Amino acid sequence: MLKTHKISKSLYIRGIQCTKSLYLHKNRPFLRDRLKAEQRAKYERGHAIGILAHQLFPGGLNLAPKSPSQYKQAVIKTAEAIAAGTKVIYEASFQHQQSLVILDILQQKDDKIMAFEVKSSRAITETYIQDAAFQYWVMTQSGVIPDDFFLVTVNPEYVHKAPLDPQQYFTITSLLDQILPLQETIQPRIDHFLHVLEAPHSPKVKIGRQCTHPYPCDFQGLCWKKVPIHSIFNLNFFTPEEKFQRYHQGYETPQQLMKCDGLSDDQQWEIDRYITGSLWISDTLRKRISDTLPLLFVDTLKPAIPLFEGMKPYEEIITLAAIRKNDQDRFHLFSHPEEGKIFLKTLEEKAMQCLTFSTLPCHNISHLTMSALQQAKQLYLPGSGNKTSIREMAQLLYGKSKTNEKQMDTLEAGQLWMRLRDNSLPEEEKKQIKVKLNAYSLWHLNALGRVEEV
Ligand code: SF4
Repeated sequence: MLKTHKISKSLYIRGIQCTKSLYLHKNRPFLRDRLKAEQRAKYERGHAIGILAHQLFPGGLNLAPKSPSQYKQAVIKTAEAIAAGTKVIYEASFQHQQSLVILDILQQKDDKIMAFEVKSSRAITETYIQDAAFQYWVMTQSGVIPDDFFLVTVNPEYVHKAPLDPQQYFTITSLLDQILPLQETIQPRIDHFLHVLEAPHSPKVKIGRQCTHPYPCDFQGLCWKKVPIHSIFNLNFFTPEEKFQRYHQGYETPQQLMKCDGLSDDQQWEIDRYITGSLWISDTLRKRISDTLPLLFVDTLKPAIPLFEGMKPYEEIITLAAIRKNDQDRFHLFSHPEEGKIFLKTLEEKAMQCLTFSTLPCHNISHLTMSALQQAKQLYLPGSGNKTSIREMAQLLYGKSKTNEKQMDTLEAGQLWMRLRDNSLPEEEKKQIKVKLNAYSLWHLNALGRVEEV
């Protein structure tokens, strides 16, 4: 009789990242942060690529359990399907004691059992190897010993030609040599995780690099709640390791850090700037901006599955651009990547320097970016140290303005742009989308414009 499982592959990976996260996930799930839109989009992308990978092994039997209550049944059905010689099984479930895994694809060929785990990224990471090692261990312990274990990843060299060819789109790599030496580490780790899960309290774990690596933890709202809004994590000129080290030494704010020994000139400079609390621009940059430097906002998409012929997976394409020059705004919406490239090339040919938020996909255009300017100490935007997205930067710039405007994020803008590709969309709806995207671009231009106002 199968017991209810306690460790799945995602929990196993979670436990490696942080045992407190493992405990909270299982025992205090209501404390979890709300799922971010980017995270949801990542899951959806992973799911779509998993389905696409089925085409590598067509005609398989899908044994995916539809709900947690079906896990035990799925394990039994998988065992029966293997015994019956089913050639290909999608979502094959295996359980050993309290550990359960659902393998993406299992193939039986020439009396051999091949296991395939599908990932939507282009590279093999240490986390994927740990994940595969755990799956191999559970399968083996349950009595099904794979002859080989493969990782199916996206081939970075694939060049799209319709219709998409899954054989070319994916790369299949054997991980057996890497996961066999890890097998002896798995049982002790599971024992430790079970012990953690049964404890009356969560383990005491300080915040650290593990809060965002390899995955952003969904308990940051809980663990980081004592971190002040104006904390040292907002600083740019400190490495993450330095920030955590100083924080755990009791330096929580830039003010406290100011009294600390051993700061570099850059760090001292940044703390001084941060404490003044306002946007700061060097005289050199101020002069360049006052020479009517145009503002440029460019938005891009990096689709995992190429949208156009000749593109590679995750290749960045320009979806829209807005430029403000001499108080005149121009908005450009592109329907093909070539149009975006031509737009940037035109700017480049005019040797036009622009102020932008981030590096443009077309690297040879002459431009000024917010992050490069900050690194060069030409500009300082207090609080930008832990902000990574263009939207966050724009919000910081807009922070002190009177606007309460809610603005969509890059993800939503990308989804709207994708909808425009639907030829069956009514003209009126297309028009409304264009208006929204225009407003979105102008919001970013206005945020950049605040640099000019200072
Ligand atoms: S936020 Fe950090 S410390 Fe807290 S559970 Fe997550 S990884 Fe662990």
